[in-house]
Amino acid sequence: LVSRKWRVRPTVLDLGDGVRIGEGELAICAGPCSIESEAQMEKVMDHLLAHGVRLMRGGVFKPRSSPYSFRGLGMEGLKQFHQLARARGIKIVTEVMQVSQVEEMHDYVDVFQVGARNTQNFNLLDALGGVDKPVLIKRGISGTIEELLSSAEYVFSGGNEKLMLCERGIRTFETASRNTLDLNAVPILKEKSHLPVIVDPSHGIGLREHVPAVALAAVLAGADGIVYETHETPETAASDGQQTLDFEESGRLIRNLRRVFALR
Ligand code: PEP
Ligand code: MN
Repeated sequence: LVSRKWRVRPTVLDLGDGVRIGEGELAICAGPCSIESEAQMEKVMDHLLAHGVRLMRGGVFKPRSSPYSFRGLGMEGLKQFHQLARARGIKIVTEVMQVSQVEEMHDYVDVFQVGARNTQNFNLLDALGGVDKPVLIKRGISGTIEELLSSAEYVFSGGNEKLMLCERGIRTFETASRNTLDLNAVPILKEKSHLPVIVDPSHGIGLREHVPAVALAAVLAGADGIVYETHETPETAASDGQQTLDFEESGRLIRNLRRVFALR
């Protein structure tokens, strides 16, 4: 069902209030890795709105490699995030980690993110197949393109057609970057599927100074959108500061993304 063989026309997701993802528009979604405080969110929101961006990412349930790392503000943080975003006409993308959170989070999110560690959590995918909210599904850490499409098929066949695919880098033998962003996946996914393809350059390369370069390359490769991490002071971010842009870098990237998109 997620194949172009089944549907030729590209899927466009309408999040309401004029925020659309898919063919013909470049979706820009940015925000901190972790939601940390109201003050932090307000600063990011002011920054995004100043650049005409109305899609914000931010995790409240964080899948961390170490149990001693910051694991997110949970539902309380999500409720604050939702309230602040709603007052500003911003749509939010946030990660859901387990089935029991789907219902709990439902009324407070605009897009459910399935993280790379949960791409093959088939019970979670089944649960998301039953909701009427868009889902952004990331490629697994060591997942193939075919596996990503199969995971998307779980959600789609469950009845939820509001889906987008996200390339976020895969684990390879290379150690110079955090992950290896697979730009090949962009044209291949666009060819195989009618779903919007989003690229996450932050997790894809993991190095702040190189995030803009690969983000721009992803747009030229045909991505429908870019999701990246930004924070007022990346060095103090609760997670992923090493791959997070400050607002100046982020503003420059937004301008350049639009310029490059106009060349397509
Ligand atoms: C994130 O978006 O902060 C995140 C944890 O991403 P991924 O699941 O791609 O590692
Ligand atoms: Mn992150």
